[in-house]
Amino acid sequence: MKTIKVNVVTPDGPVYDAEVEMVSTKAKSGEMGIMAGHVPTVAPLTIGAVRLKNGSNTDYVAVNGGFLEVRPDVVTILAQSAERAETIDLTRAQAAKARAEQRLQNNDGSNDVKRADLALKRAINRIQIAEMR
Ligand code: ATP
Repeated sequence: MKTIKVNVVTPDGPVYDAEVEMVSTKAKSGEMGIMAGHVPTVAPLTIGAVRLKNGSNTDYVAVNGGFLEVRPDVVTILAQSAERAETIDLTRAQAAKARAEQRLQNNDGSNDVKRADLALKRAINRIQIAEMR
């Protein structure tokens, strides 16, 4: 099967770089699956999983927002932050989840609800992806 090069890049540096048969991402408009030969496109991403399939192997990367760019020979995912499943610190993500839930529960108006909600979504995403490894 034909492959396509995929790069996941963050402000801190590259996180993933490989040839894969298929990459699935969570775009704001919905789930997107990309294979070699896909039309060039750009799409904003949400907090979610990037699934990278090559033969019987599937890698998972937790992505926090950003953009997907599809070019004829390469797919680039530019994210605010991204972690490969193997590098996710599960304890840290669980602590972040508990903190965000606490902030949302004790919301007395002084909390930034949107910020806590995004922190909760990032933590849940990391926990789900860490559990797939
Ligand atoms: P925390 O409250 O634990 O810092 P956060 O969601 O606020 O979590 P981010 O601002 O999204 O963290 O990320 C800051 C940096 O820390 C990024 O480089 C990100 O990849 C890394 N990071 C955050 N959480 C984890 C985690 N559970 N495991 C590994 N790296 C993480």
